Amino acid sequence: MSRPASKPLPEFAFSAAPRAGILLPRPLKGTYDYKLPIGVDAPRGTLVAAPLGTTEVLGTVWSDAEGGVGDNRLKEAVPLDGQPRLPPQLCDFIDWVAHYTLNAPGAILAMALRSRSAFDPELPRIAYVRGSETPKRLTDARARVLQLMSDGLARPKAAIAEEANVSPAVVSGLIEARALQETSLPEFPPFEPPDPDFARPALNPAQAEAAALLKRDVAARLFSVALLDGVTGSGKTETYFEAIAEALRIGRQALILLPEIALSVQFLDRFAERFGARPAEWHSDVSQKERKRVYRAVMRGEARVVVGARSALFLPFPELGLIVVDEEHEQAYKQEDGAIYHARDMAVVRARIEGCTAVLASATPSLETWVNATSGRYAHLKLPERHGPASLPEIRLIDMRQARAEPGSWLTQPLRDALVASLEGGEQAMLFLNRRGYAPLTLCEACGHKLTCRNCSAWLVEHRYRRRLICHHCGFESATPRACPECGAEGTLVACGPGVERVAEEFARVCPRARVAIASSDTMGGPAEAQAAISAMARGEIDVMIGTQIMAKGHHFPQLTLVGVVDADLGGSDGDLRARERTFQLLHQVSGRAGRAEKPGLVLMQTRNPDDIVMKALASGDRDAFYMRERMYRETAHAPPFGRLAALILSGSDGDKVRATARELARIAPKAKDVTVWGPTAAFYSLLRGQTRERLLVQAGRNVDMQGYLRAWKDAAKIPGGVRLTVDVDPVSFF
Ligand SMILES: [Zn+2]
Ligand SMILES: [Zn+2]
Repeated sequence: MSRPASKPLPEFAFSAAPRAGILLPRPLKGTYDYKLPIGVDAPRGTLVAAPLGTTEVLGTVWSDAEGGVGDNRLKEAVPLDGQPRLPPQLCDFIDWVAHYTLNAPGAILAMALRSRSAFDPELPRIAYVRGSETPKRLTDARARVLQLMSDGLARPKAAIAEEANVSPAVVSGLIEARALQETSLPEFPPFEPPDPDFARPALNPAQAEAAALLKRDVAARLFSVALLDGVTGSGKTETYFEAIAEALRIGRQALILLPEIALSVQFLDRFAERFGARPAEWHSDVSQKERKRVYRAVMRGEARVVVGARSALFLPFPELGLIVVDEEHEQAYKQEDGAIYHARDMAVVRARIEGCTAVLASATPSLETWVNATSGRYAHLKLPERHGPASLPEIRLIDMRQARAEPGSWLTQPLRDALVASLEGGEQAMLFLNRRGYAPLTLCEACGHKLTCRNCSAWLVEHRYRRRLICHHCGFESATPRACPECGAEGTLVACGPGVERVAEEFARVCPRARVAIASSDTMGGPAEAQAAISAMARGEIDVMIGTQIMAKGHHFPQLTLVGVVDADLGGSDGDLRARERTFQLLHQVSGRAGRAEKPGLVLMQTRNPDDIVMKALASGDRDAFYMRERMYRETAHAPPFGRLAALILSGSDGDKVRATARELARIAPKAKDVTVWGPTAAFYSLLRGQTRERLLVQAGRNVDMQGYLRAWKDAAKIPGGVRLTVDVDPVSFF
C-alpha cells in the first residue's frame, strides 16, 4: 500500500502565527482576520476574545483568514479558557439563516451567543459532607444536622442550616469540630436527566402508529420532517413525547418549540409526569442567571431536553436528535423585529443540517405545511380521534343579519339563551372576541372625527376600566377627552364597535349574578396573573371567561361546554394573503375549548357571512374542504407556497425622504424573468411609532433565486441616512 508523500511544510510555517477569519456578533459585512497564539488549534466555532478598537469583544473562529494583511498589522484573538466551542452544525445554521434572511451573519451569531461570562470556567461552590468526627457535645440542633447529613449528599452551609432548621452558628460549630468536611459543588445545579421509560403511556392505535414512525425516523439519525396532524385533544403531545423518549434512548438531545411558552405550566407538568424530570426552559420570562445555566448545560450536552420559544432554535446543541414545533401554524413563530425569520421554517433547516427529525404538530396546519404533507414531501401522520371519551363540539352559525341584537348590543338572543342555560346547568362558558379594551374606535357624532394616535395611522382604543385611550401599536395613551379635539363639541364622542370590556358589560346585564373574568393581555398583569385566571377557571371559580386569543390556547377546562364567538368575521376581510387561513385557525382553536371532558360541547358563532367558505368549513367540520379551496386560490394567485414573496419596508421619521427613497428603490429594481415588483405603496400602517413606512412587494416564481435577486438589488441601492431598509423574506403579516 503506498501513500502519497506528504508535502514538506514550508519553513516559515513554524514561525508565522496561525490566522483565522473571526466572526463578531455585530451586523458587520463578514469576518475579520486575526492572528491566533502560536501553537493553538482553533477549529471553526472556537470562542475567542478579539480586540476591536479600544475594547475587546467575544468572537468566533469562522473561516480561513482572507490574507492580504501582514502579521505585524493583525491583532491577536485569544481563545477563551477551557476553549468552549459552538458546535459546527450551529455555525452552518447561522450562515444559512443569514443567507436566507439577507442579514449579516454576525447579526445572526448575536442571537446564538451569550455574554462572555457565560463561557467562563465554572466557579465551584463550597459545600459540606459528613466528616469523620462525632462531637462530644451533641445538642438537639447538632443531632438534627448530623441526621440530615447522614444521607451523604453535599450541601452548602446555608442549605444545611435551612434544611435542618438550625442557626448557621450550629453548622459552623460542627465544621470546626470536623463533624462536617468541606467539599465542592458545581456552580450551577445540574439538570436531572429525563427518563425515557419513566411513565410510558398507553397509546390508542393511531397514536401508536404515528409514534412508531417517528421513533423509526429518530433512530435512523437522518433528516426527516413529519406533520403530526390531529384535532385538539387527539393526543399529539403524548405521541411526540415517544419520539423524544427515542432521542433520549439513543443519546441525543431534543428541542420542543412552543408559541406561548409563558402559559405552559400545564405543559411542563405533563412532561415531568411522562419523564420524571422537568425539561430546561428557554424564553423571555427565564432569568438571566437561569439562562446562563441552561445555555451552558445545553452546550455541554447536560440538558437533554429544552422547551422554549423561537429563540431556543439558536441554542448550541452538540447532539440534537429531534426538533418539535408545536402549534406550528402560530404566527408567534415569526420574529418581526431585528433579524426577521420564521422559526418553524428555520427549525426544518436546522433539522436538515443536524441530520435529525423535525415534527410539526397542529390541528390546523399552515397551508404551506399542509401542502408539503399532502404532496408527500413531509410524512403526514394523522390522529383522527379525540383521545378519551370527549367528542368534537357541535358548531352552529348565528346569522347576525337575522338574529339582530338591539342597537349597541353584541350578543344575539340565541347566544344569550344558550349562556343562561349553560349557567343554570352549572357549567362554564367562554365568550371569545379578539379585541382588547372597550371599543376599537371613538368617533365624534358632530363632525365625524376619529380619534387616532399621534405617532401611528391607527385608531385609539378605549380602555374604560383604566379610563384611557391607548394605541395598541406604540403604547401612546391619553385620558378620554370631554370635548372633540377637532370641532370642540362636548358630549359628542361615542364608542364604536365592541371590545372584550364592552361585551363583559353587556353580559353583566344578561346574567347579573355570574362570576366573570376578562382575559386579555392588558387586563392580566403578566403570565402569573394569566396562570391564576386559568387555574381559577379550571377549579370552577369562574362561570364565564370573556377573552381574546390568549384564551384560545390549549388549556383544559373540564366544565367548559359553551363557547360563544362574538364576531367571527373579524380579521376575515383585511385582504391580506393569510387572513382567511388565520381566521379559520383561530376559530377552530377557540371551538376546541368546548366539551373537553365527558360533556359534549357547543360552539355558537355570530357572523354576517354564514355562506363564507371559512364559516361553512367550520360549521360542517370539513377542515380539508377549506384547505383545498385555499390551495386552489393560492395556486391561481401564484402565492406561497406556489410562488415566493418578499417585502421591502422603508421607514424613517422624514416622510418625504422615505417616499423618495422608496420610489428610487423601485426604479432600480433589477429586471428578471418571473419576478414582479409591486409598489411602492404606503404600508397598511403608513405611520407607526412616528415612522413613515413604505412597502414594496416582490413576487417570484417558485424556482427563482429570491435571495440572489434581493441581494443584487440591495447592493445597488443607496439608502440615505435616516431611512432604514428592512427585508422580510416570506412575509406573514402585511402591515
Ligand atoms: Zn401609536
Ligand atoms: Zn367633532
